[in-house]
Amino acid sequence: MKKGLLIVLSGPSGAGKGTVYNAVTACCPMLKKSISVTTRKPRNGEQEGVHYYFRTVEEYRKMKANGEFLETAEVYKNFYGTPQAPVFRMLEEGNDVFFEIDIAGAKQIKQKYPECVSVFLMPPSFAVLEQRLRGRGTEDEESLATRIGSARSELAQYACFDYIVFNDDAQAATKQVIEIIAAERCKISRNEQTILKMLEK
Ligand code: 5GP
Repeated sequence: MKKGLLIVLSGPSGAGKGTVYNAVTACCPMLKKSISVTTRKPRNGEQEGVHYYFRTVEEYRKMKANGEFLETAEVYKNFYGTPQAPVFRMLEEGNDVFFEIDIAGAKQIKQKYPECVSVFLMPPSFAVLEQRLRGRGTEDEESLATRIGSARSELAQYACFDYIVFNDDAQAATKQVIEIIAAERCKISRNEQTILKMLEK
């Protein structure tokens, strides 16, 4: 069976990753989501096993020590990790798996699994990024200042990614991400076995 694609959407906080991720998965129900583990407290409306697996720091550390994560990162004083087994199972079953994670985690995945497709979502400007972070209203002043402070160095990491999408319009950015996934599916390198089998017959 042809292995699925692993697609990583990343970018700085405030780039609009969540919005674009949700729009892409809504348009492409065949894409499998990866549910992350986090030690952060659930926000209003967030559900266990739907948005995240919410775990204590101790539980997270145990999982990490057991080698259960494909990647892990500390993001704004909370720990996050992608459980490895379900991702590899979905890929082996031929499913395309789509994640939304931070930049450090995306870089770890590229190292461990170089055939992944990594997309960097770029805000149209630094001012817009700051405005979006403030407008979200989900962070306190301290957390907001940290996010704004680290955004500049995060932006500079775009070169580690395969694709860049400028998100000045979420609909257009969503369309571009969907087009990237479609083009990646058509790459010769990803279809060689199927072609060779056809030619054998
Ligand atoms: P939030 O707490 O706002 O849901 O997410 C904070 C940041 O953590 C976002 O940049 C999000 O992309 C990132 N994130 C969510 N899940 C994971 C994960 O499993 N691994 C990594 N490295 N980052 C994650």
